[in-house]
Amino acid sequence: QRELRFIGERVLWIQPCCLKELLELKATYPNAKLVVGNTEVGIEMKFKNLLYPVILAPAYISELNIIQHIQDGIQVGASVTLTVLGDVLHAAVKNLPAQKTEIFKAVLEQLRWFAGQQIRNVAAVGGNIMTASPISDLNPVFMAAGCKLTVMSKGEKRVLEMDDKFFPGYRKTVLKQEEILLSIEIPYTRKGQYFSAFKQSPRKEDDISIVTCGMNVFFKEQSNIVEGIRISYGGMAPVTVLATATCNRLLNRQWNEELLEEACTSLAEEMSLSPSAPGGMVTYRRTLTISLFYKFFLTVQHKLA
Ligand code: FAD
Repeated sequence: QRELRFIGERVLWIQPCCLKELLELKATYPNAKLVVGNTEVGIEMKFKNLLYPVILAPAYISELNIIQHIQDGIQVGASVTLTVLGDVLHAAVKNLPAQKTEIFKAVLEQLRWFAGQQIRNVAAVGGNIMTASPISDLNPVFMAAGCKLTVMSKGEKRVLEMDDKFFPGYRKTVLKQEEILLSIEIPYTRKGQYFSAFKQSPRKEDDISIVTCGMNVFFKEQSNIVEGIRISYGGMAPVTVLATATCNRLLNRQWNEELLEEACTSLAEEMSLSPSAPGGMVTYRRTLTISLFYKFFLTVQHKLA
């Protein structure tokens, strides 16, 4: 494949021929925007009057479209569309033991209520991560799952975990300007591990979230004692967050009514919002963090029984 280049009055648009060329171009133009589905950038340029003078189009680069089962999960290239991601996860859920696919099912649940079919057909998983929207529907799932992200620049490749340091501020990630996101690893779950995702929005279909979350718990062998737990929320801060203090309090505790009470009290403290927080509905959003945890509590209790 050859490079394709359009030189306009205001914008230089380049479709690089391969990964090497993409990384070279990103080193030459660190401010260049990668655009795949254009469902975020298009809105920024059309309605928010932002101008990106250099646009790189990596939709057809094979390394960014990789889909492969690896030892711990599925590796998905950053340019893979949400529709394709859904198809791949559906197949995995069908073919693998149920215990391995708890996170895949949660991603599918979020995709079900993610925009409409037309958007999902073009929007890429990397575009959702890199937009770093505080109400992204996928980032809380990826954060609660501890997904690994491979990022690359000319001459350097590194793997990061999506944790509470990945989004250092509103619509920011820890990637350096010359870096691109190559792929994400969505892990398998193991026996004694349970995962749920929930999205609350004003309308069921094709609407943005009020609060969205991913919740991940695993238990000590043959018990209901919490060995690890990770709860992540969107819509509760300028970034996707982890409820770390609450999670720490729940470690080594039995999954019972006492734990539920402790979690609710702790979440009420930890997931507070200032009365003037952007987005409004402050009391409702705070209540949602607790009621969504309650839903998770019951789901897990049912599975443990
Ligand atoms: P683009 O617009 O192409 O790019 C988005 C950003 O990601 C840009 O800053 C770009 O430079 C960067 N980027 C892309 N790929 C890379 C890479 N490989 N490395 C580094 N940076 C990269 N979002 C939700 O979470 N839930 C919803 O329900 C939802 N509904 C929507 C409904 C509508 C009508 C619209 C227009 C948008 C909606 N969105 C929603 C937001 C959007 O669709 C998603 O964030 C989508 O995943 C963005 O993907 P994209 O490929 O279109 O991104």
